[in-house]
Amino acid sequence: MRYLIKNALIEGKYKANVLIEKGKIRSISDRELEVEEAEVIKADGLWLLPGLVDLHVHSRVPGGEHKEDFKTLTEAALNGGYTHIVCMPNTDPPVDTPEMISYLYTITKNLPVNIFFTGTITKRREGNEIVEIGLMKKAGAVGFTDDGNWVKRADVMLNACIYARKFDAMLISHAEEPTLSKGYANYDKIMLKHGLKFRLPISEEIAVYRDCRLSELTNCHIHIAHVSSAGSVEIIKKFKEKGARVSAEITPHHLIFSTENIDPYDPIFRCNPPIRDEENRKKLVEALKDGVIDVVATDHAPHAYYEKERPIMEALPGIEGLETAFSSLYTHFVLRGMLSLSTLLDVMSYNPGRMLGVDNSIREGNHANFFLFDPKVKWKVKKEDILSKSKNNPFIGRELTGRVVAVFSKGKFLRR
Ligand SMILES: [Zn+2]
Repeated sequence: MRYLIKNALIEGKYKANVLIEKGKIRSISDRELEVEEAEVIKADGLWLLPGLVDLHVHSRVPGGEHKEDFKTLTEAALNGGYTHIVCMPNTDPPVDTPEMISYLYTITKNLPVNIFFTGTITKRREGNEIVEIGLMKKAGAVGFTDDGNWVKRADVMLNACIYARKFDAMLISHAEEPTLSKGYANYDKIMLKHGLKFRLPISEEIAVYRDCRLSELTNCHIHIAHVSSAGSVEIIKKFKEKGARVSAEITPHHLIFSTENIDPYDPIFRCNPPIRDEENRKKLVEALKDGVIDVVATDHAPHAYYEKERPIMEALPGIEGLETAFSSLYTHFVLRGMLSLSTLLDVMSYNPGRMLGVDNSIREGNHANFFLFDPKVKWKVKKEDILSKSKNNPFIGRELTGRVVAVFSKGKFLRR
């Protein structure tokens, strides 16, 4: 199948016609391309952008299919412009054997999104005995994490680092020291007034420091998931300057929301680590700009209505993000001149892609993994716009600018 995309603005910069053949970008030209038997896609006014790559997604399979399954997850990913996503292993049961990794790749290989899997660091995510890192990597695991839990025992994490280094595997740290993160609210003046139970920034900072130090000691690549505190940014920056193999990610909700602009009792915003104050949020935006934080990952965490719409102390933690990540960050930061489009593409496509060995850049010979984006359209997000099985997306009811119009993924053209 051939496709001819006419008059798209490549990466929002220059106008070109793009010919896709057998799932690959055959040519990019500013001249008319005469092609027989091609489906023509008129893209006047649309941007052609590299497919997004999300390092942190909760598929909920196996065990949580009432929240999401691979079909709805795929639809949600495509709806948000993602062509590559990485699933977390904190399912029920957790993904802690090579057989499970192989099984997950088998059941997802024909879906129109590239889905990658991670394994746990410890068996059953109990924090005591490390998994078969070498065999699981061989089966396709792209990283290892007890996500949702931090590996509390330093001896176990040290051992995991040594093995991971040996097999050149990446460890992903859900950095929250558990004895200081029993509550659900940031510790700041606003939350103090509400008397909510806290998850202190220091719980994250202690965990980030230990894992950066272990990375430095063992030369193992440790990726810090969902950074939320300014203190963590400082620690990561120092270790990066010393040459430690540390990388870090941040979510759209920690970049956009703060305790000053959310209702602290609204369960939709309950997440781990919690939404923090303006001071922390501003520092996170700076860290993304400066390159201290490498990646935006959604931590897409679907929950059923009855699990989320509860009093805040009972609501399950987690926020959905796949379908609104790009538009929300474009609206909040690119349109306001606070981040460039090219930085946004680096942190949402190129940098995470590099960590997976995926190159989604728009050039001749590359696989056709990209999306068409309308940068002008304004839309109020409605429940029906969300294709995930769950609807715990805080942008429902809010107006965004710019929307994904179509996606090319695994050689297929998928119109929204
Ligand atoms: Zn996590």
